[in-house]
Amino acid sequence: ATRPGRTPRDVATHCPYCALQCGMVLREDDAGVTVHPRQFPTNRGGLCQKGWTAAELLDHPERLTTPLVRDPATGALQPTSWDAALDRIVAGIRAIQDDAGPDAVAVFGGGGLTNEKAYALGKFARIGLRTRHIDYNGRFCMSSAAAAGMRAFGIDRGLPFPLADLGRADTLLLVGANPAETMPPLVRWLTEQRGNGGQLIVVDPRVTATARQADLHLQPLPGTDLAVANALLHIALTQGWVDRAYVAERTAGFEAVRRSVAAWWPARAEQISGVPVADLEATARALGTGGRVVILTARGAEQHAKGVDTVSAYVNLALALGLPGRAGSGYGCLTGQGNGQGGREHGQKADQLPGYRRIDDPAAREHVARVWGVPADELPGPGVPAYQLLDSLGTPDGPRALLVFGSNPVISAPRAGRIERRLRDLDLLVVADLLLSETAALADVVLPTAQWAEEDGTMTNLEGRVLRRRALRPPPPGVRTDLAIISDLAARLAPDDAAATDAAARFPADPATVFAELRRASAGGAADYAGISWARIDAADGVYWPCPTEEGPDTPRLFADRFATPDGRARFHPVDHRPAAEEVCATYPLHFTTGRVLAQYQSGTQTRRVAALRRAAAEAFVELHPDLAARLGIDDGDPVRVTSRRGEFSAPARLSAGIRPDTVFAPFHYAGAGRANSVTNDAVDPVSGMPEFKICAVRVEKA
Ligand code: SF4
Repeated sequence: ATRPGRTPRDVATHCPYCALQCGMVLREDDAGVTVHPRQFPTNRGGLCQKGWTAAELLDHPERLTTPLVRDPATGALQPTSWDAALDRIVAGIRAIQDDAGPDAVAVFGGGGLTNEKAYALGKFARIGLRTRHIDYNGRFCMSSAAAAGMRAFGIDRGLPFPLADLGRADTLLLVGANPAETMPPLVRWLTEQRGNGGQLIVVDPRVTATARQADLHLQPLPGTDLAVANALLHIALTQGWVDRAYVAERTAGFEAVRRSVAAWWPARAEQISGVPVADLEATARALGTGGRVVILTARGAEQHAKGVDTVSAYVNLALALGLPGRAGSGYGCLTGQGNGQGGREHGQKADQLPGYRRIDDPAAREHVARVWGVPADELPGPGVPAYQLLDSLGTPDGPRALLVFGSNPVISAPRAGRIERRLRDLDLLVVADLLLSETAALADVVLPTAQWAEEDGTMTNLEGRVLRRRALRPPPPGVRTDLAIISDLAARLAPDDAAATDAAARFPADPATVFAELRRASAGGAADYAGISWARIDAADGVYWPCPTEEGPDTPRLFADRFATPDGRARFHPVDHRPAAEEVCATYPLHFTTGRVLAQYQSGTQTRRVAALRRAAAEAFVELHPDLAARLGIDDGDPVRVTSRRGEFSAPARLSAGIRPDTVFAPFHYAGAGRANSVTNDAVDPVSGMPEFKICAVRVEKA
């Protein structure tokens, strides 16, 4: 309900959930807080169910409003004061670091944190805790596309062009993307594209809500997207659709790729992927002879132990066809999490410093250390990617304490049962969250944090467009912002009062002050925010990075003249298909793949508590082809158990002719017996550290 004495008002902000960052107005009046869609270039007045219901969590009865600390006598979490909670954390960190060194404490962030928080968290880890161990859950989201983009283009921005370009594409190829479920307002662009006479082609192992709208649907076996891409390039080469002038002028390394795809005859790709040669040829023709052509990948292509190579195969295809940088054409990745893009730009990743700088680059270290006011040689070196970090917790050589901000790895990590055990093995687990997530429920200390409508900040959407998140009202009594928590922890970790004052100033709780410093730290880096002020964002519909000066323009479109490589040329990378890390066998004869449903978001900490979303998608399910179900004696709705080498989960069967008979699917948003990540494979991509969420081998039986 509205708080007494508050003046009713409207605030223009953005949805708290996915990377589309739909524009919305929050209105607080006598009826409480309500959500209203607003015209913004990405959503054009549309919102999905999740956005419409987002305000319900502001006054949710399960909201955390006081710190909790685990009582050693009873083992239960008990309410406590902020002083007691923070003192407990600081004492724990001190004891562990005195005993085992700075790296014995680790930090795990989230792709939903604002840019300011991601920046502050990276800085706090490196110079507040002096640990190299920080990474974030975005590693599980789009890290493979990020790595492939970096090695091809020298820069990683999900979409290097505005989303509006999709509506004008003659041919649009979506690989492993299901925006009809994950980002419904984006479908308006697909509808417009087809209304303009464009052709939509979807590559997905399931007949998803998006695939149903496609002119052509390729339905490969999970984990074979790379073979499909190589065959498409093979056909383009043999048909003479490669843009030779573009390849000669704007790229390097084509010859090796040309040789590597020579063996990818369409019939071979059909044998591996199951996609008919005729469909491969039709797709290659649409891509090779279309005018404006856009190729987009998402989690279906990226969440594999060969995710980087799979994305590279599609980047190779796009480069060979001369798409990146050509007006209305290009390659892009549909980033998923709300600030998945910004979250990876400001130093929250194990291998990076702000401005998308490499942490092992001496010049980058000098620059950032200067902004932070410390000697460069005091900055720790690179840490390890998220899964490796989580899997090392509590082991003899791993960190003994973990601070989690805005993430729920008990549900979202692969092989989740094992990660849950690792978290239980820690000497100190601290979780800052707005609700008691499954990870928070394991913590020694839980810190209640503000929600999106209670604090200012910036987010960077899937287009690289920096947006303003605006506070409607302050956090409720007893709740603090993440920035205030970081500031307080930094001060309490200081050895004396003078150092504490200095630390509090070095880690300001005010987001505008943090953003001003972030701009300086990013200046000259790939993701350059130096020219982006909050006022400038307010005056427009966001500002695209790179934007090096306040006077100069921002950059809605990248690569028009050159790529961000030293010589300005994009790089081809020869890549070859290889089998999934785990193949089916007599004991585990079915392929298993995971994904999302419209009414839930990520680990479901928030959306599983919203009444309308719970009604729409209350529990996990296992999607099976009717032929497979008949073979296994399973009827629609029967409880089934899915078992892999790593664990099992149970959920009702949902029969669908839209899935391959050799593959089963489940959404990963759910906890308890329905936790799909109990079975997923923790094999990771050697370049990106992305786990293989999208394919493993399972057995399915009636429970
Ligand atoms: Fe838009 Fe994504 Fe929010 Fe839905 S969840 S309203 S698509 S930003």
